Amino acid sequence: MKTHPLYLNGDWFAASPFQQVNNPATGEILAQVATIDRQRVAQALADAHAAFLRWRKLPGKTRGEFLHAIADEIETRSAEIARTITLENGKPLAQSQGEVGMTVDHLRWFAEEARRAYGRIVPHQVDGKRHLVVKSPLGVVGAITPWNFPLVLAVRKMAPALAAGNTFVLKPAEQTPLSAVALAECVAAAGLPNGVFQVVLGDAPEIGREFLENPLCRKVTFTGSTEVGRLLIAGAAATVKPLSLELGGHAPVLVFDDIELHRAVEGALIAKTRNTGQSCIAANRIYVQRSIYDEFASAFTARMQAMKVGDGLTPGMDIGPLIDDAGLQKALAHIEDAVARGARLLCGGKRLGAQGYFIEPTVLADVPPGALCLREETFAPVAAIAPFDTEEEAIAQANDSSYGLSAYAFTGSLDRAFRLLESLEAGTIGINDGVPSTSNCPFGGVKQSGWGRELGSEGLDAFLETKHVSLGLQL
Ligand code: NAD
Repeated sequence: MKTHPLYLNGDWFAASPFQQVNNPATGEILAQVATIDRQRVAQALADAHAAFLRWRKLPGKTRGEFLHAIADEIETRSAEIARTITLENGKPLAQSQGEVGMTVDHLRWFAEEARRAYGRIVPHQVDGKRHLVVKSPLGVVGAITPWNFPLVLAVRKMAPALAAGNTFVLKPAEQTPLSAVALAECVAAAGLPNGVFQVVLGDAPEIGREFLENPLCRKVTFTGSTEVGRLLIAGAAATVKPLSLELGGHAPVLVFDDIELHRAVEGALIAKTRNTGQSCIAANRIYVQRSIYDEFASAFTARMQAMKVGDGLTPGMDIGPLIDDAGLQKALAHIEDAVARGARLLCGGKRLGAQGYFIEPTVLADVPPGALCLREETFAPVAAIAPFDTEEEAIAQANDSSYGLSAYAFTGSLDRAFRLLESLEAGTIGINDGVPSTSNCPFGGVKQSGWGRELGSEGLDAFLETKHVSLGLQL
């Protein structure tokens, strides 16, 4: 079994205890990665701080060139990195290739944004004064990321943080640290100065506490569950540590009878099944206007049944395994609960095979409002469908959630599209679009789906401090 080291202050560190990494398609152990204790994490923060004092002084253009160099390295190794993502996360290889492509695009977007951390000059109100608004990096950023997009979600934080002049300590998810190690190899090959980017792994709550309590760490950026997000908010209170939080989602899909059926079916299908349904913006609740309800349900079910499920390394797969047994048991519990409450099982419903964590693509119709799958993230290729009659009712159902990460609507009416985008409580809205996320536009949640935005120009701003400088002048 291969042992992978951590990347600390420009050195590779490989010592026990090791974190084992499983292949969710087979349940077999793939590799192991070194871990460190809290004290060594504090050292990484100190090294990141020393690196910050030099990195912040580089022109944005130069920092951008480093990011382009990392992107070049990732592109050169894209086939092997995509394979690593599939091995540790399970997603079909074509989707891992898509994740690598999006990662490169994020790096190049923020490489260019690095030159655009503009301040401004504000007209004075009193003679003899002039006012500057200046943008400065924060310092050391601690990042905690999940397993579902192990490469791109780390880079979504790292690229803007480095572009803005901060240094970065990444703690990847225990299930998927190999993508982070591959990223560190690309950073090293790109020649970034020591300490600008580091990878740590170990006891997650302990590392989280060190990020929150260590005064050298100036911001914690987190993507993961709302449950852990709440713990970080509580932990940040003592030091008033700034947080960016990309938390859970529970996306509604509204299908109106004025859209061509196939567009709605294909859009809902990709929003449901991409990443094996384990995406924070995955469609969880599909509400369909009653006049096309049966037609939609049968066309959607036919497409779900045609999905190819298997090991992500096998060519042509649409859906891979769930990440682990806990993910599988949660999905099965959601199905059982919905059926017990009177939902109709249109297809699927069972575990697939005895090896790995596969589940049949599942469609549940007539799901009643109290069902778990209409209240919480299912994080699996399990679709819950329910009818609505009016637009008002559809909007009320969509907004009846404590989450607000993303929402989808399929309609042929421009008027309705505007009413929906103004009413839906979500940070990202796909109108006739099942894959709305892109490097150049902000991404993030409202309500309990999080604080702040990533990507777009907002993504850079999340890693900048705003200072006002008042100049008293004799003119
Ligand atoms: P998780 O919250 O269990 O874990 C996320 C990360 O937090 C991991 O690195 C884990 O080690 C770490 N962690 C766990 N407990 C911690 C603690 N007490 N202190 C500090 N760190 C801790 O989430 P997950 O299961 O890895 O990911 C799935 C969740 O992430 C879903 O809810 C999904 O919706 C969400 N997510 C959100 C976005 C977004 O952009 N909003 C994107 C992807 C995933």
